[in-house]
Amino acid sequence: MVTYLLHEPACPLCGHHDREPLVPTVKFSDHGYATVLPAVSVSVCLNCGLIHEFPQVNLVESKDYTEKHYYNQTNRIADHDAMQRRLNPLRWEVLQSRLPWSSINRAIDVGASGAWSAWVKQQHPSASSVLVEPSAEAIAWCRAEYPEVEAHHAIIETYRDPVGTCDLITFFYSLYMLSDPLETLRRCHDLLSEEGRLVICISHVLLETKIWGHGRVVPWVDMEFFVRGAPLVYYSRHSLARMVETAGFHVLETLVDQLPTESEHNGRQEYYLIARRRKPDDPPAQPLSAPEHVAWSRSFVLDFCRRASEKSVALLFQSRPINRIHLVYDDAIYRDWVLDILRPHGVPVETHRLDPANSGIPDGVRDEPGVVLLNSSPVAIGVGKFNAAARHAHAAACVAPWKEGQYGYYADVENGKRVFTKAFLPIRDHGADIFPFDVHPIDLVHPAPASV
Ligand SMILES: [Zn+2]
Repeated sequence: MVTYLLHEPACPLCGHHDREPLVPTVKFSDHGYATVLPAVSVSVCLNCGLIHEFPQVNLVESKDYTEKHYYNQTNRIADHDAMQRRLNPLRWEVLQSRLPWSSINRAIDVGASGAWSAWVKQQHPSASSVLVEPSAEAIAWCRAEYPEVEAHHAIIETYRDPVGTCDLITFFYSLYMLSDPLETLRRCHDLLSEEGRLVICISHVLLETKIWGHGRVVPWVDMEFFVRGAPLVYYSRHSLARMVETAGFHVLETLVDQLPTESEHNGRQEYYLIARRRKPDDPPAQPLSAPEHVAWSRSFVLDFCRRASEKSVALLFQSRPINRIHLVYDDAIYRDWVLDILRPHGVPVETHRLDPANSGIPDGVRDEPGVVLLNSSPVAIGVGKFNAAARHAHAAACVAPWKEGQYGYYADVENGKRVFTKAFLPIRDHGADIFPFDVHPIDLVHPAPASV
C-alpha cells in the first residue's frame, strides 16, 4: 500500500501563508492510477500567484510514495526510457549551440532514467555525467543500461556534492516535483561553477496543459497535468523566472521548442529556461508580490478550458460557412456548457445523445456543405476510434479520450463553483489563437505544425 504524509508548507516561492484552494488534486493510488484526492487542493498563493499543492505530500518522509509516484505500472521505466532516448536528439538540437559544452566537466541531470545523462557522456566522454533520481527502479535501470553514468539514488533536496564543482544541472520535466524548489535551486546555485548553467525544461508551455490528442489527430486541451498527480508546483513563465532569480540566478535565455510534426510528440511544446549564477552587474531579482499574476494564475486554472474552447469555436466559424451544427453528447452538463459557447455564433444546433450501442453518425445528419457534426463525447463516432472526421467530411471530435480514475468533464470545487477540465476544440491551433497567452513563433526551434 502506498502511503504518504501531508504537511502544510508556506508558499514555496514567497513564503506567504494566504492562499485560495482552486481544484482538488489527484494522486497516484494503490491501483497505479491517479485518483482525485480531496484533501489536497491545487491552490494559488494570494501574494505571488504561484500555483502549488496545499497541503503537500512530504516527499522526504513519504519514501514509499516518493519511490513509486512517477515510475509505476502505468508509467513503466522501460517505456519512459525509450521515449527519453527519442527526445534526446531533439533536446540536443536546442541545447548544442546554447551551452558552453567545451567547459562542462561535470553535469547533473535531476529526475530521469539516465538516457539524457548517457547522451551527454557520449557527446563529451571526458565529462562526468551524473543522475540524481528518487526511484530505486530507475536507478537500477540506469546502472544496467548506462553504466557510464554516475547514478545516485536520492532526491536532489538531499543530494550532496562539493560546492562549485558542477558545470551543468538539468531539470527535464522534474522541477515541478520538488517540494521546496527555492531551497533546492539555492543548493544548485552553490553546486554550480561560476559559468555553470542551469537548464529547466517544462513540457507543454505555460502550466503544463497538454494540447494534443490520441494519435495526435484529435484536438483537445485539458488539465491532464493536474490529474497526473506528480507535480507539487505548477509554474507559469512568470513564476518560474521569479523562482530562479530568487535562488540567485540570472536568466540568460528562454525559448519555446515546438516538437516536429513528424515526431510522436507532434503538438508538444517545451519551454526552456537557461540561467547562470547572478553576477554583481546583473539586475536584481524582481519583487515577488504580484497582484496581476495572482489574478492571471487563478483565471488560468479556473477558466482555461473555457477560454481555449471559445477561441477554437471562433476559429471554426471563421474557417467555413456554417448553417447548422449537430452536436453529439453523452453528458448533459457538458452539452449545456458547449451550447453556451456555440450560442453567440447564432447558428442552429441540433443535439444528439450518444447511443453507446450504436455510435455511428446520428440519424438525419447528412454530409453536406454548411453542416458540421461535432462530437463532444469521448466515444468515437463513425468508423474507428476518434476518426469521425475521416469518414464524415464536416465532423470533428472535440474532447479528449476518457481516462480512468481522473477528472471527468468537470470538477466541483469547495466554493461550489464547477470548473470545466476538458476543453471543446473543433479546431486545434498551437498559437495565441487558442492559448490565452503569448506563444512567440519566433522562439520556435522546430517549425510549427499546421492546424488540424
Ligand atoms: Zn507566494
